[in-house]
Amino acid sequence: MSHQASSALASDSTFVDEFMDYVEDRSPGEPEFLQAVREVVGSLEVVLEAHPEYRHHRILERLVEPERVIQFRVPWMDDAGNVEVNRGYRVQFNSAIGPYKGGLRFHRTVNLSVLKFLGFEQIFKNSLTGLPIGGGKGGSDFSPAGRSDAEVMRFCQAFMTELHRHIGPDTDVPAGDIGVGGREVGYLFGQYRRITNTFTGTMTGRGPAWGGSLLRPEATGYGCVYFAAEMLAAAGKSLEGLDCLVSGSGNVAQYTAEKLLDLGAKVLTLSDSGGWIHDPDGIDRDKLAFVMDLKNVRRGRISEYAERYPGASYSPATESGQPNPLWAVPADAAFPSATQNEIHRIDAVNLVDNGISLVAEGANMPTTAEGQAIFLEHGVLYGPAKAANAGGVAVSALEMSQASQRLHWTREEVDQRLRSVMAGIHDACVEAAERFGRPGNYLDGSNIAGFTKVADAMIQQGLI
Ligand code: NAP
Repeated sequence: MSHQASSALASDSTFVDEFMDYVEDRSPGEPEFLQAVREVVGSLEVVLEAHPEYRHHRILERLVEPERVIQFRVPWMDDAGNVEVNRGYRVQFNSAIGPYKGGLRFHRTVNLSVLKFLGFEQIFKNSLTGLPIGGGKGGSDFSPAGRSDAEVMRFCQAFMTELHRHIGPDTDVPAGDIGVGGREVGYLFGQYRRITNTFTGTMTGRGPAWGGSLLRPEATGYGCVYFAAEMLAAAGKSLEGLDCLVSGSGNVAQYTAEKLLDLGAKVLTLSDSGGWIHDPDGIDRDKLAFVMDLKNVRRGRISEYAERYPGASYSPATESGQPNPLWAVPADAAFPSATQNEIHRIDAVNLVDNGISLVAEGANMPTTAEGQAIFLEHGVLYGPAKAANAGGVAVSALEMSQASQRLHWTREEVDQRLRSVMAGIHDACVEAAERFGRPGNYLDGSNIAGFTKVADAMIQQGLI
């Protein structure tokens, strides 16, 4: 397949610039949201030319406006008896093809711009899965890191005391994201159940004993690796024997590493917000079990990996704006799995210079627009987040189906469906990219395929 730069990245598009002026006027001070919109709109110029009805119905102008934004106060008490006040949000972006669906992020960096970018991306990602789910996202500027279980529980209960008014199994179904794992989902669901006196599938990512789907914790990481395997297979290659860089050490990073090991690849790196580790011998299953215990049970730092395994090195994180040396380790494939904008232009250049030929994004928007341009220019097989990490929300939608039918599928059944969803997303990206004259460009393919289904549904349902 040949690769060509996305129109999202070209600076000579009057259409993109004019539309972005319009969005910037309406959403000043929201850089992450504007970045996410620019990328999508850049892919769509060619679609709007071919389909004037989308312009006539002002679909883009309607799409960038969330159907509803809810912001609320979350007061709670810490272990020392001090009153704390955080901000809670839910951005209900688009429900044209199903109930709002998207995670909750608890991290000190959360603000409306971050949640609007995540909610906007979620519209297209959810559409790509082929399942009936709309786009939404929420969260709080509360960080669970360093808090006791009792504090996390009190915060989650206070958060849900307001959020419960706005969600429901046919309205809006939240899940986890950064800072919201099994523990937090449990406390949130428990409070929802108590207040509403209903046991419904209103949250996904639940424990298997109380309505959760098997394989949901693994789904985003596994799905990302399945997507990478699909891209490689289409190019006549496989993951077997490839050296891989993974960033992050949370949910997505852990299960990306696990599936890479299953498929015969070698994992060289992991990170957290404090720094990163490089293990030239590879992070094998025993070492990964150590990381899972460290992060999920003991809630420790990745630096402890290098203390435990002397063959590995630990380096503290570089200042923001400096190149991240993790992305300069020679390897074949990269799986950014921590957070947004972790690969800047210089990191993309380092990746390409050191032999990377595939990037699959487990995190949301981990690569800046300039970084994306480097990958596309150099023919890297580039799997953008809204396609590559859609496995998590896909299994969340399968959890909703199981909950509504009171069924419980086996791990093997869910895994088979996950594989088939990821293969379907891959094919939809390839088909859309080819149809609109951008063969091999998964970035444009994912944006176009995700967009057209939602746009058509919006037109068919009238001006609402
Ligand atoms: P997680 O379990 O909370 O892990 C996040 C990891 O990223 C941790 O290692 C964390 O380090 C690191 N990190 C977070 N913020 C950072 C920052 N500002 N700078 C550097 N490192 C940072 O979260 P997750 O569920 O794995 O999510 C990771 C990414 O995948 C996010 O972009 C999320 O939106 C995306 N995603 C997740 C899912 C899902 O199903 N969970 C689905 C689709 C996409 P610390 O431990 O030091 O904070």
